[in-house]
Amino acid sequence: MDTFDIKSLNQTELEQEFKLLGLPAYRAKQIYEWLHVKLVTDYDEMMNIPKNLRDALRDKYPLTILQEVDSLHSSTDGTIKYLFRLMDDRVIESVFMKYHHGNSVCISSQVGCKMGCRFCASAIGGKERDLLPSEMLDQVYRIQTLSGERVSNIVIMGTGEPFDNYDNVIRFLRMITDSGGQNISVRNITLSTCGIPDKIRAFAKEGLPITLALSLHAPNDEIRKQLMPVAAKYNMSEVIDAFIYYYEKTGRRLTFEYSLVDGINDGEEQAKELAKLVKGINCHINLIPVNPIKERDYRKSESQAIQKFKFILEKNRINVTIRREMGADIDAACGQLRKSYHDKNSL
Ligand code: SAH
Repeated sequence: MDTFDIKSLNQTELEQEFKLLGLPAYRAKQIYEWLHVKLVTDYDEMMNIPKNLRDALRDKYPLTILQEVDSLHSSTDGTIKYLFRLMDDRVIESVFMKYHHGNSVCISSQVGCKMGCRFCASAIGGKERDLLPSEMLDQVYRIQTLSGERVSNIVIMGTGEPFDNYDNVIRFLRMITDSGGQNISVRNITLSTCGIPDKIRAFAKEGLPITLALSLHAPNDEIRKQLMPVAAKYNMSEVIDAFIYYYEKTGRRLTFEYSLVDGINDGEEQAKELAKLVKGINCHINLIPVNPIKERDYRKSESQAIQKFKFILEKNRINVTIRREMGADIDAACGQLRKSYHDKNSL
């Protein structure tokens, strides 16, 4: 991590950093509050900091602030998709969603992604770089400022594989849940992973009992390998064992995500196989009708097939929901907004 990115430092680290400059601890407390509670975007907004110190800090520690490049507003359910520019001009996508239980933000954890899932738009350009903790925090901060709405829930389900950027994601989680910062409850955070067993096990011991979602997408290794290259590296039983270990350590009910792809993983036989696979696991299955992307010829399952799939799981007493499609009128599958920005700008 870049040590001059002060927005990625926690309060204790900021105090230590300031101590080296001969600044008292209360200055660190003040600055931390301006950055992480009041969400200012410039040192000049820090009213209780003298002008000469504001100028010195600006030179030494330029603030990581995301710039809004574009946003798409749904008129039906209040969903807003944001395209943000990072300090190095790369762009990322984040989504604001309104639910009955509160406002939620879906953040990206990397610029692009290297996991290569066949149906995913974020996989197409590969991974450009990891996001810093400050860049993950600022997605939540800027969205609150731009929308004027308080955010209570976070899903780490945007572009990127969070466990491929493990340390920065952990730091982000500690900072966003910090009582001296945004103080978002761990109970209101979900992280989605393609399934990296050693990282799942390590995460179980971090003392951050958030909801973990596993992108399963298949009832067996053979189909999973067709959709997700990572399945060739770790077999499903290894991943599920690590996932169960997470449950044992944290007591958090597990979520399986299953994107339904027409003719590939959405048949009756697969539903039965899936039911058998998860039997006895305290879990919930989230069915996601695949969002077709133009670079691939995967199609969304027929609605009858989706209902049948759900019915078979229910008959086997498995908790299952079909993910509600948010922002259908601004439709752009995960990573599509960023992708179309790149397509336009490379012409
Ligand atoms: N890398 C993480 C999180 C990012 S993707 C992971 O793999 O879980 C969040 C979820 O959206 C994953 O379950 C992913 O497989 C799914 N997803 C990605 N593109 C999709 C698409 N076009 N249609 C449906 N689901 C998609």
